[in-house]
Amino acid sequence: ATAPVQADWPALLRDVADFPRPGILFKDITPLLADAHGFAAAIATLAAPWRAAPPHAVVGIESRGFILGAALAQALGVGFVPVRKPGKLPGPTLALDYALEYGSDRLEMHVDALPAGAPVLLVDDVLATGGTLQAAVALLQQQGAHVVAASVLIELSALSARQRWDAQVPLLAGLVI
Ligand code: AMP
Repeated sequence: ATAPVQADWPALLRDVADFPRPGILFKDITPLLADAHGFAAAIATLAAPWRAAPPHAVVGIESRGFILGAALAQALGVGFVPVRKPGKLPGPTLALDYALEYGSDRLEMHVDALPAGAPVLLVDDVLATGGTLQAAVALLQQQGAHVVAASVLIELSALSARQRWDAQVPLLAGLVI
């Protein structure tokens, strides 16, 4: 049996002011995750465009991209591949460093995580500046994967990431706010 759909899943998101730093309005997905019907509805929203032709795998970005990505992979009947922060993966990895507003960060994935040319769907929770998602796209492309789309649950439109987005890869959002 499928869960009844809680269509108004965006109502389960919580805004937290000044977290993790002053001036940031943090979109907290934990109340959504804690609601079985809301969580299912959010995943159904992300899954809808891919039901007819699922990708080879869903790739999720640490940490909240793991929660959404793993559920999405299960919903689509495909595998899940993690893109992680430095030093977490045990096997040989491919890494990509990318600039942040202050400093830089690094994403890693296992070199053997995907077959060459595999179509993958990249997932994260929030699109803010887009830097993290763009870096993950570049890492996957370096690895030889074909990124069919990058999908986020929430796009923060005020940060204009879509205007700077690489048009080669479609950018999808469950909710644009
Ligand atoms: P960015 O690289 O600027 O697009 O930031 C995206 C990453 O930071 C995502 O992995 C988000 O989980 C997190 N993030 C950035 N801004 C927010 C926000 N306002 N609320 C929740 N998460 C955020």
